[in-house]
Amino acid sequence: MDINQRLRSLPKIDRLLERDDVALQLSAYPRDLVVEALRQATDGVREALLAGDAEEVTAEEIVCAASGLLAAASRRSLVRVINATGIVVHTNLGRSPLAEAAVRAVEEVARGYSTLEYDVASGERGSRHVHVESLLTKLTGAEAAMAVNNNAAAVLLGIAGLARGREAIVSRGQLVEIGGSFRIPDIMRESGATMVEVGTTNKTHVRDYENAVTDRTGLLLKVHSSNYRVVGFTEEVSLAELVELGAKHGVPVFEDQGSGVLLDLPRYGFDPGSYGREPTIGEAVAAGADLVSASGDKLLGGPQAGLLVGKAETIAKLKKHPLARCVRLDKMTLAALEVTLRLYLDPETAIREIPTLRMLLGTAEEMRERAELLAREVREAIGNDADVNVVPEVSRAGGGSLPLADIPTHVVAIVPARVSEGELEAALRLGEPSVVTRVSEGRVLLDPRTLQPGEDREVVAALAAVLGTSGA
Ligand SMILES: *Cc1c(COP(=O)(O)O)cnc(C)c1O
Repeated sequence: MDINQRLRSLPKIDRLLERDDVALQLSAYPRDLVVEALRQATDGVREALLAGDAEEVTAEEIVCAASGLLAAASRRSLVRVINATGIVVHTNLGRSPLAEAAVRAVEEVARGYSTLEYDVASGERGSRHVHVESLLTKLTGAEAAMAVNNNAAAVLLGIAGLARGREAIVSRGQLVEIGGSFRIPDIMRESGATMVEVGTTNKTHVRDYENAVTDRTGLLLKVHSSNYRVVGFTEEVSLAELVELGAKHGVPVFEDQGSGVLLDLPRYGFDPGSYGREPTIGEAVAAGADLVSASGDKLLGGPQAGLLVGKAETIAKLKKHPLARCVRLDKMTLAALEVTLRLYLDPETAIREIPTLRMLLGTAEEMRERAELLAREVREAIGNDADVNVVPEVSRAGGGSLPLADIPTHVVAIVPARVSEGELEAALRLGEPSVVTRVSEGRVLLDPRTLQPGEDREVVAALAAVLGTSGA
């Protein structure tokens, strides 16, 4: 057969649809999807014939290729992964896993109707802010509070609400970019405020702010340097000093606290590393800021959200701002946030129940024990197919928080015998569930710190599937 005959002999879609194996596909998938898959599979074959990559193609092969396409198209996209990287607040992997109680609350309000904006006592319309406001004020000491879609939205709303059409003064040392698209100068522009930069990258003094204050000044902004530190010859104006300056000139002060720390973590055994602890939201409130914003899903350990706490008058203004409606939270997130905040009412409970806190506060010794256990099971499962050792390493807080905190841990380091470390990393990542690891110096590293209960077993099974002798 020449190429034209082969192309002509390709089965028509109508004929394929009459086959028994396609009837099976039609019972499992909508007809349009099956037709589309058969067409794509046939097109693929046609291209292969034209390119000389194939000579003879049967109808079975086309149907088989279509089955692959159908399976791929119906596979869910947003699925669980196992985080073995030791990066606790891993933004690409969804930041904070939720506490069990928060998961249950999400499920409950997702399945049915809820009190989202309904006051059961009066039978009248309520406010969605009430579910978290009193908890946030209790936990931070602020007069009032609200929560929005994320901290980027909180900062946008805060600046727009306080300084649209006016000037906002910010230190050059704080013109930060946090994760790609969040840059203070860009947010400032979108908020409608005019940014006035003061000081230098490494040093800003109170007098720099003072000299920039005019009758057009609407805001003094302080951005917490959450994902980097300026070290060495540096000077930053404290929030308390800014508050004093703001009071003198009648200008509100807004601190973007970022990480959402509610507890003094070092008190619970956390070593923040050489460049100091993360200040809590409550400390910013106590220093007298008119407004403080933070993320809900970083060190706080809740769902994606932006928290805004501060003076009653300021929060009231923001609640009424048109942007507030655009960045409001949905019921599932509010449910998770309320329950997560409730856990903080008793710090010991928070540390026990909130996965992010539990992971951050796990000691190096606990991680050594877990790594030893995991290593033993891995060795049993894969025999001589890899060299498996427990070695000291560091975990990271991640999510642009505590950038310099080396959290001591122990990892399982695997040097595979028959594949490269890169091939092992990829095979684990492409598995189901996907296991995300770190590669370092020819080894694949598994940090038990970020494995959730029960996932150790799945990691062992994944390694056995990739490396195990049974398959070789
Ligand atoms: C993370 C962070 C943000 C952005 O918060 P999202 O919750 O990711 O929107 C803004 N400012 C600071 C200081 C941060 O650390």
